[in-house]
Amino acid sequence: MNAVTIDGPAASGKSSVGYEAARRLDFLFFDTGILYRAVTWAVLQQGISVADSEAVGQVAEQTSIDITAPTRDHRDGRQVTVAIGDNDITWAVRTPHVDQNVSIVAANRLVRQALGEQQRSIGLRHGSGAGGKSGIVMVGRDIGTIVLPEAPLKIYLDAPVDERARRRQQELAARGKETDIARVLADMQQRDEVDSERAIAPLRPADDAHQIQTLGLSIPQVVDKIIALAQTHLEVGPATPLDQTAPRGGGAAPH
Ligand code: C5P
Repeated sequence: MNAVTIDGPAASGKSSVGYEAARRLDFLFFDTGILYRAVTWAVLQQGISVADSEAVGQVAEQTSIDITAPTRDHRDGRQVTVAIGDNDITWAVRTPHVDQNVSIVAANRLVRQALGEQQRSIGLRHGSGAGGKSGIVMVGRDIGTIVLPEAPLKIYLDAPVDERARRRQQELAARGKETDIARVLADMQQRDEVDSERAIAPLRPADDAHQIQTLGLSIPQVVDKIIALAQTHLEVGPATPLDQTAPRGGGAAPH
């Protein structure tokens, strides 16, 4: 199986690093947090309380989330396009309002049941090369521990919370959203706590995960470490050299 799992707390670099690692390995990239964010968006949109477990579970079971590679019309930095019905919610799932509610939704047993099975079957299919690419990079909180524990290469990324809050604030600023760092930090601490302490699939490194501290490392440096590990843990040929000028987007439709 050619599967790389990348878990870690909010803004530890999982998506940027995973996306680039997948590009260099020519694997499919699948950011599983998008599914939890999309369900949260749908719950909020319908005016349902995130505390109403049954109703939230029903939304997860009934909502069809489309994740597709961006088209030429979408040159706004997106890795994938996320849609529910006719609504393009690619950026709507990244708002502070979704950030503040997603962990409660993700701790819901019915939500995890509905989304976990989908993720595992996508991981098995693409990890075996059946999906067109020769492997998959899956990013989340419980991929190495619960979703795809048989993956031959597991990574756990981490960085101090104040550094992660700084990165998230910069990300939001790049999209024109000015935010107060103290608020970003408080939201992030709250989210980490719920994700780490929930009863089902809590955030923690798998016993055999390679742990990488990303403080002081650039994205290409972290990707280089993962590619080096991939050479020994996976069935891959020589990796594509890192190319900072390569366009973002494409290769990211986990269906
Ligand atoms: O990775 P991202 O920050 O986009 O994930 C949003 C939220 O989705 C996390 O804070 C967590 O509550 C949930 N999540 C999860 N399991 C995953 C991926 C994300 O519980 N595999």
